Amino acid sequence: MQRYDFDTVILGGGPAGLAAGIYASRGAVSTAIIDLNMFGGQPSNYLELENYPGFSTVGGFDLMEKFEEHADKFGVKKFPMQEIQNVNLNAKIIKTNEAEFHAKTIVIATGAQPMKLGVPGEKEFVGRGVSYCAVCDGAFYRDKTVAVVGGGNSAVEEAIYLTRFASKVYLIHRRDQLRADKIVQERAFKSDKLEFIWDSVVEEIKGKELVNSVLLRNVKTGETTEMSVDGVFPYIGITPNVDLFNGQLQQDSKGFIVTDEKMETSVEGVYAAGDVRTTPLRQVITAAADGAVAAVHAVKYLEISKEEVTQNV
Ligand code: NAP
Repeated sequence: MQRYDFDTVILGGGPAGLAAGIYASRGAVSTAIIDLNMFGGQPSNYLELENYPGFSTVGGFDLMEKFEEHADKFGVKKFPMQEIQNVNLNAKIIKTNEAEFHAKTIVIATGAQPMKLGVPGEKEFVGRGVSYCAVCDGAFYRDKTVAVVGGGNSAVEEAIYLTRFASKVYLIHRRDQLRADKIVQERAFKSDKLEFIWDSVVEEIKGKELVNSVLLRNVKTGETTEMSVDGVFPYIGITPNVDLFNGQLQQDSKGFIVTDEKMETSVEGVYAAGDVRTTPLRQVITAAADGAVAAVHAVKYLEISKEEVTQNV
């Protein structure tokens, strides 16, 4: 098996990982980024961002392509499509299906993934009416009826996006008030294709070959109703991608990795950045900032370790 040695190995090539790559390689340390997929992370699937400073609107894919080109410019070694099988954070060894990476510092930037509703029919109909990516699948629902579940920024923004294709979009929310930013809410309330189903949860997703209805329960009255829909897009939040690290470092009650202000985790020389860590705001800008902070401190950690080795010789 191929062995690689790097000063810093970054796990995850989204905004946090790519920003960490730029800062680490500019700090003149050998840097690798490993990703399960291609680079770009979650924002690659966002149609548009309108809150990344310097760009009044920018395509998510385009922005992440720029991040990647920037990392390339500073010579970051990229390892996409790696199946990471095992990570030993204390020993700083990462095993993938193709290689073994030995690092002196690690930056965990593995991001997060959509939370599942956990109701009957959800798993069964993924790709046949259940989707977690409106940008990827929205066009399949031209002139159809879809339901979006959730009340946060993701649910409301994606519901608005789906009105481009669908003839009707229901937004099903478990309360009677949205969590999304006011500006996003205002835009949604203006749409005549969007209808809000308040105080309701999805109990089941039903269909034959494809989805054809959802079973809803009103949480205030207890009443259940069946509503015809062709597609269901759950956007009920995110859960961190931490399976490879569970039990090796401090995590909060939802599994997000706890860091200090240097982005250092409870394991020395291991940093975490972006959506995977406990943070009050999950945005491209905060992920990128986390990546920068993590990388700068990883570089400092390497310098201090080198000095200690020299003094001990
Ligand atoms: P979120 O803000 O955590 O919202 C999740 C929504 O799903 C909430 O409305 C929640 O209801 C609802 N929910 C949670 N569990 C549920 C369940 N089991 N059944 C039914 N509904 C459930 O998640 P998000 O919208 O995915 O956003 C994640 C982060 O990314 C946030 O920090 C968000 O601000 C950020 N983000 C920002 C932008 C932007 O600024 N343009 C765009 C997308 C995402 P309650 O309200 O009742 O808790």
